[in-house]
Amino acid sequence: MIIYEPVMLAIPLAEKIKDYILKTKEMPRVDELKEILRELNLKNLYLDRGFALYRSKHVFALLISFKEYITIDIISSSGDLSDAMEIMIYHDKTLDSYIVEIVPVNELEFEGNIGIEPVIIDAKTFELKSNPVLGHFEKGNGEVFLVIDESTYKKWEESNKTDHCPICGAKELTWHEKVAYCDSCGFGVKVVKE
Ligand SMILES: [Zn+2]
Repeated sequence: MIIYEPVMLAIPLAEKIKDYILKTKEMPRVDELKEILRELNLKNLYLDRGFALYRSKHVFALLISFKEYITIDIISSSGDLSDAMEIMIYHDKTLDSYIVEIVPVNELEFEGNIGIEPVIIDAKTFELKSNPVLGHFEKGNGEVFLVIDESTYKKWEESNKTDHCPICGAKELTWHEKVAYCDSCGFGVKVVKE
């Protein structure tokens, strides 16, 4: 896995949080999020009650937690905010669901949702109610790909949005078998067997 810019941490982090909620049937607390960030090779720089600062070579992550509302702000280590991302994790009382959403700070450059749909998990049945397109990033032949598994791809197909880029939201994806390229952001998407 590679992380060169905020979105490259935001997407795998949102996926790990989704998996955690589905598996344990509860919202992650700060301790679990710390563990997840460690798994993604981020180093802790500072820790206080409900607040933690992390970094890797290319990004900073700032974790802020209130009871039922957690945000993780991810910014480039250059301090540039134009590609910064915010992950929001909360219990939506109207939907009675847990939501994990990736919001670009600069919304002008992005169309739609990152990951196409936010993670929506029913708070009673713990079923996944949406079709988020999440995975992790790898490099191959000089290109950077979002790698997703086949079950994620199948759900993506059901939503009839496979021409939408899960990274930038543009309707610019062209597929060649199990690999797609986005003309707008330049990332690729690769579907792999689980
Ligand atoms: Zn794109």
